[in-house]
Amino acid sequence: MKIGVPKEIFEGENRVAMTPDSAKLLQKLGYDCIIETKAGLAAGFSDALYKEAGVEIAKTAASLWKEADIIAKVRQPNDTELKRLNKDKTLISFFNPGGNEAGMEKAKASGANVIAMEMVPRISRAQKMDALSSMANIAGYRAVIEAGNNFGRFFTGQVTAAGKVPPAKVLVVGAGVAGLAAIGTSASLGAITYAFDVRPEVAEQVESMGAEFVYLDFEEEQQDGAAAGGYASVSSPEFREAQLAKFRELAPEVDIVITTALIPNREAPKLWLEDMIKAMKPGSVIVDLAAEKGGNAEGTVMDEKIVTDNGVTIVGYTDFPSRMASQASSLYSNNIRHMMSDLTPEKDGQVNHDMEDDVIRGATVTFEGEITFPPPPPKVQ
Ligand code: NAD
Repeated sequence: MKIGVPKEIFEGENRVAMTPDSAKLLQKLGYDCIIETKAGLAAGFSDALYKEAGVEIAKTAASLWKEADIIAKVRQPNDTELKRLNKDKTLISFFNPGGNEAGMEKAKASGANVIAMEMVPRISRAQKMDALSSMANIAGYRAVIEAGNNFGRFFTGQVTAAGKVPPAKVLVVGAGVAGLAAIGTSASLGAITYAFDVRPEVAEQVESMGAEFVYLDFEEEQQDGAAAGGYASVSSPEFREAQLAKFRELAPEVDIVITTALIPNREAPKLWLEDMIKAMKPGSVIVDLAAEKGGNAEGTVMDEKIVTDNGVTIVGYTDFPSRMASQASSLYSNNIRHMMSDLTPEKDGQVNHDMEDDVIRGATVTFEGEITFPPPPPKVQ
């Protein structure tokens, strides 16, 4: 069978779902690979590199979609792409199945089998396919780089002949995958780094990365915002008040705030409020990684960078992985390659779409003309 990768058509999307390295590994599984011309260029992979890796180049999107049995891509398909599906094809892509009813209906009607990468169950066995985590890791790193780019001072403290420079103070709100990546990056750049999460069990991880966990003046047993599956739940009003009071105290002190707080299937909680932004020093920077879900900071504008009247920059970009397209493509195409490996147990270039397999079942959102989303909970943890 043939695996094909089209050029991403979402505006500004620079990632690609196959790299020359991942193509070589897909060929070891018995597949032929084909890619649309210039699909990898924005991520730093030329047609020549793909050819060297044994990948065929398709001149147009139409011919690519026609020839490939399995299509791998990054962004959820648009209508033109959905029309190119049929019952003999498998699509592997981010798909947003919970918020893309029309796309789900079209995929079902086409008869194609669709695997949504955001639906890979978060169990140990599936970590190698967990594209949400691989992309969140990049977003966390890039958020710190973006903050540094907008902050007119050093991260690390220095004593120079021209004067003494204090280290920057960085607060990371939310210590999930993206938050931990931000904490590690900030600490390694030499900033004094603080981190807060409603799940106190992450304190140890935060501290092992050289940052300081921010505790609240709150009864310890009540400071547990953990819900099922290791995710956060909504905080009680008392807890929220204690959290906001602590942030108010920190606002005049910190130079950079990186917010990553999310609760599954909800709008992002508003945690960095207008009065806190007003209390920050001019030149301070907020990078709001929750912008796509409404933002953790008041005043975040999705996909934009704004500067407030008191000189605080608020970055609301939602395309951090695409801003590091080469790295993001390498990791994402590894996630795809591992998914293909699980779909090809015999390494014979033939898809065995085993709906008894927890991971494959969990991620499959349409199968043989039926919608199979949402999946049942996985049997194994
Ligand atoms: P996420 O993106 O859903 O949320 C980011 C962070 O925000 C979480 O740490 C959450 O606790 C925190 N948060 C929510 N409300 C907050 C508030 N009011 N104030 C401060 N922080 C708040 O999280 P994620 O990165 O997807 O990770 C969530 C969990 O899933 C973690 O326990 C992680 O270890 C786990 N996980 C497991 C796997 C796996 O086993 N394969 C993979 C990835 C993540």
